[in-house]
Order: sequence, then structure tokens, then C-alpha cells
Amino acid sequence: MKNITIAIDGFSSTGKSTIAKELATKLKYVYVDSGAMYRAVTLYAMQHNLISEEFFLKERLIDELDNIKLAFMFNPDLGFGEIYLNDVNVETEIRNMKVSRLVSKVAEIPEIRKKLVEQQQQMGINKSVVMDGRDIGTVVFPDAELKIFMTASAEKRAKRRFDEFVERGEQVTFDETLKNVEYRDHIDTSRKDSPLVKAKDAIEIDNSTLTRKEQFEKVYKLALEIIESN
Ligand code: C5P
Repeated sequence: MKNITIAIDGFSSTGKSTIAKELATKLKYVYVDSGAMYRAVTLYAMQHNLISEEFFLKERLIDELDNIKLAFMFNPDLGFGEIYLNDVNVETEIRNMKVSRLVSKVAEIPEIRKKLVEQQQQMGINKSVVMDGRDIGTVVFPDAELKIFMTASAEKRAKRRFDEFVERGEQVTFDETLKNVEYRDHIDTSRKDSPLVKAKDAIEIDNSTLTRKEQFEKVYKLALEIIESN
């Protein structure tokens, strides 16, 4: 049995993290949610009045990067690591609509990407990792043994995100959620540094046509084939 790196990329709310978490649990691998890192940096910028809908003090945020400490701490009840921003658990806070509206602007900045990519590569140095995001198979782990690219229609993805907001009691409309999903797709695919693209060797999974169980089984089988091969 060999240890491998699994990269799961795709548009927002395609169910990447659900599959990635399940896979990591089943294989006893570490799961890393790279989007949570971009979200936590965004939350830091919001807390320090460096970003809002109206302004973005990019240079100030870049200057403060050394003050932003990110870490994942395993929560045995949940079965995965929760993100900490300067020693505070921000796992729930980073998922709100305010952060979702601003995160893609923060994720466009090359200095920020460079810092987070270095940390992500460090977390995967011993392999046995499942990481999800936008540039994992293209930039973070171009040599990953298994690369998955997940897609689904914008409506289906917005519905998934909207249901999560409702469950948390957040006051947002479906329309707003759909707009946010489309807005982030646009920025994520058109930015200069590490745009969201399918890696040449990634296997595409369309979430619109498969159930969650079918998706998981497909990806798990692919992983096992590689792990058990010589
Ligand atoms: O995965 P999630 O939707 O939580 O990611 C939030 C945002 O972080 C994305 O819309 C994208 O702008 C950014 N991101 C990124 N690169 C990654 C992961 C996330 O640019 N590897």
C-alpha cells in the first residue's frame, strides 16, 4: 500500500469538501480545506477594517501577512480539522455570506496565494492527504497521484449553499446566493494568478448526475486502485 496525495478541485459548492472529508476518513488521511484558509485571511482583513464592499486596502493586508497565523486542529467529534485564526476557532464564522462576498478578492492577490500555497505544500509533505480547493491539482500538488475536478450547474450549487445558510439561520435569499456563486466562479476562473482550471490529468465528476453515494464510491475506487498498485 502506498501513501498518495489526492487533489479535489472545482467550482464553489460542488460538494468537494463532503467527498474530500469522507475520503480522508475512510483512508485515514488528513483532510485540508484550502478554501477555509482564504476565508480566514478574509475574516482577518474584515476584523482589521482592511476590506469591505466599498474598499480594499490590499497593500496593508499584504504587509500584515506575517501577523496572520492559520492552523487546523483536529476535532474528534467532527472527524476533521477545524481552522484557527491566531488561535481562535473561526470554522463557523468564515462560512457566512459577508466572508463569501469578499473572499475571491482576497484570493486574487499573488502574495497571499504564495503564502497559503507554501503552507498547504508543507501540510502535504508526507502525503496521505486529501486537499480540496481551486488550484490543488494545478499549483499546490501538480504531481498528486489522484486529481478530481468537480462540476455542477450554478443553480444546483446555489441551492446547496442556500440550504446551508438556512440551516445556520442566516438571512439570505436564494437569488443572493446564486449571484454570489456566479460572481465567485467569474473571479476564480478569470484571475491572473492560479485561475480555476481543470488539470489535464484530472478526472471530472459532474455532481448534477450522480448521487452523493455514487460520487463517493467512484472516487474511493479510483483512490484504492492507485494505492494498491505498484
Ligand atoms: O472552497 P470555498 O468556496 O470555501 O473557497 C472560498 C474561496 O476561496 C473561493 O471562491 C476562491 O476564491 C478561494 N480559493 C482559492 N484557492 C483555493 C481555495 C479557495 O482561490 N485553493
